[in-house]
Amino acid sequence: MQSNIRLFMVIPCYNEQEVLPETSKRLEAKLNSLINKGVISDTSRVVLVDDGSKDTTWQLIDELHKKNPLFQGVKLSRNRGHQNALLAGLMTVRSVCDVAISMDADLQDDIDAIDEMLQKYKEGAEIVYGVRSSRQTDTFFKRGTAQGYYKLMNRMGADIVYNHADFRLMSRDALEMLSEYSEVNLFLRGIVPMIGLKTDIVYYERSERFAGESKYPLMKMLSFAFEGITSLSVKPIRFISGLGVFIFSVSVIILIYTLIRHFTGNTIQGWTTTVLSIWAIGGLTMISLGVIGEYIGKIYLETKNRPRYIISEYLGDKDDVVDLIDVKIKK
Ligand code: UDP
Ligand code: MG
Repeated sequence: MQSNIRLFMVIPCYNEQEVLPETSKRLEAKLNSLINKGVISDTSRVVLVDDGSKDTTWQLIDELHKKNPLFQGVKLSRNRGHQNALLAGLMTVRSVCDVAISMDADLQDDIDAIDEMLQKYKEGAEIVYGVRSSRQTDTFFKRGTAQGYYKLMNRMGADIVYNHADFRLMSRDALEMLSEYSEVNLFLRGIVPMIGLKTDIVYYERSERFAGESKYPLMKMLSFAFEGITSLSVKPIRFISGLGVFIFSVSVIILIYTLIRHFTGNTIQGWTTTVLSIWAIGGLTMISLGVIGEYIGKIYLETKNRPRYIISEYLGDKDDVVDLIDVKIKK
């Protein structure tokens, strides 16, 4: 029994030489079993996107491709970050696949959830989100900050799926629509829900990183979080305006208060309040300028309209006419 669903797994890899041998082994087994069961077509592929790794990741991908055409490789010219690497992979396969599933290279996402995702796709979902059922394997700190963040994002008006990272299935149509979003400040988990279409959810246990270390140290995580908020919401700017109005109202009250004190003859001291207010207002002004600057920075980057990634090498099937509109191959 043959299926005609052509699945592409898209795996961003940044310095993943420790996990790649195991990940590829498991993916190969998974895809083969799905092919044998007749769930997906035997032209399904695994696309490993090398995000400018400094270790032997690309050599490993090259070897895998030579050994088994199941594996394809996309090499970015330099490190562009997880989101851009993912996008590069998805955009490369969008015209040749029926469905693409994105997954981390470190085996934190449960490979066995793929079956259920495909099932949901067959039932008509165009986007299937992998959602973690628990966060037991995360540190207390990561769990707390991550969950607080999802709540904050939702309050800011960004429609992101709770506890969903980038483990998701997207149909060809969904990918086509995603390609219309040309923003440079890319935050995929915020953009994908904007597409609309029929979605579904698959729950899975997230395990610990199989080997190697997280490519998201605290600072990178914080900047990613901030990136997400400022890419998706203008509420912080509005908040600043509100704050301005509030502080101005307070200053009017203080003005009235000091005038009364003045006319009743009580105008000594006052040093503490003066100094405090200078610092407080100075600080608030700086923060506000910073936030506004952040948005202006974003506008600056968007207007430049630079390519989000450049593909320097591609290892794939000769028959596939890969869509290269958003993809520039150097050689
Ligand atoms: N990654 C990437 N480019 C980067 C950082 C990370 O392509 O600049 C990939 C990485 O190889 C992995 C995925 O993004 O497949 C998630 O990274 P990681 O597991 O380090 O993040 P965490 O799970 O700790 O949040
Ligand atoms: Mg990870």
